[in-house]
Amino acid sequence: MVLVPGAAVITGGSRGIGRAIAIKLAKLGAPVAIGYARNSVQAQEVVAAIEAAGGKAVAIQADVSNPQEGERLIAKSEDALGPVGILVNNAGINRDTLVLRLKPEEWREVLATNLDGAFYCTRIALKGMVKRRSGRIVNIASVVGIHGNAGQANYAAAKAGIIGFTKSVAQEVARRGITVNAVAPGFITTDMTANLPEDIKADYLTRIPSGRFGTPEDVSAAVAFLCSQEAAYITGHVLTVTGGLAM
Ligand code: NAP
Repeated sequence: MVLVPGAAVITGGSRGIGRAIAIKLAKLGAPVAIGYARNSVQAQEVVAAIEAAGGKAVAIQADVSNPQEGERLIAKSEDALGPVGILVNNAGINRDTLVLRLKPEEWREVLATNLDGAFYCTRIALKGMVKRRSGRIVNIASVVGIHGNAGQANYAAAKAGIIGFTKSVAQEVARRGITVNAVAPGFITTDMTANLPEDIKADYLTRIPSGRFGTPEDVSAAVAFLCSQEAAYITGHVLTVTGGLAM
């Protein structure tokens, strides 16, 4: 598998799924910019792991819910690593509660990071990709954006929004050699799912045909494929990585 040329920017690369994506793309030869919001120690740990394996990486603090910081993330990555060939919009948060209790701030916060952030980074990264007529954008959605989920109206709306955004941008840039796809994970073992009550986890498990929770590496393998030269004719697609939870 050969990645498209250029550096890879991964938002939310300090932990969980983003960390696995950064390590996978670096292993396949891309210089990698690891975006993070607060956890500089963990972001630097990912850089160290990539460098120890012979790869090239930098960590860049940028809150993607802020348009200027999204712009700065791409600019700083270009300064450090050269043209951006791959953007993975992975940064995400959840603030779960039933809609009757959901506060406007919790709605806005989740939309701002999960959906607005993808737009802010994409609009800047696309400029260079369009000029070079080459690029890969992968947006991390969720099975919840397809099926909905009680207690996650804000998160589901953001992830459904990501899917509509993906398909629209894919149509706008397809003739420029750029693909835009979404990966929709199911239940993946990360910090985001760590604190869920045991009974909810057990209930999920009964509904996953593969009989296990997913790993960040299950997701990073799918992302890497979509970032490859071989995936040139796949665009506007939503690839579920759910062990069969979504079919
Ligand atoms: P995680 O372990 O909680 O990691 C979240 C990452 O996003 C961290 O690197 C965090 O940076 C970063 N981040 C959060 N807010 C940010 C902001 N405003 N600006 C920049 N970076 C920010 O989450 P995860 O489980 O790996 O999830 C990664 C993505 O997959 C998310 O989009 C999530 O919605 C999606 N997803 C996850 C699952 C699952 O089961 N885990 C399922 C479906 C979809 P800091 O370390 O600095 O806080």
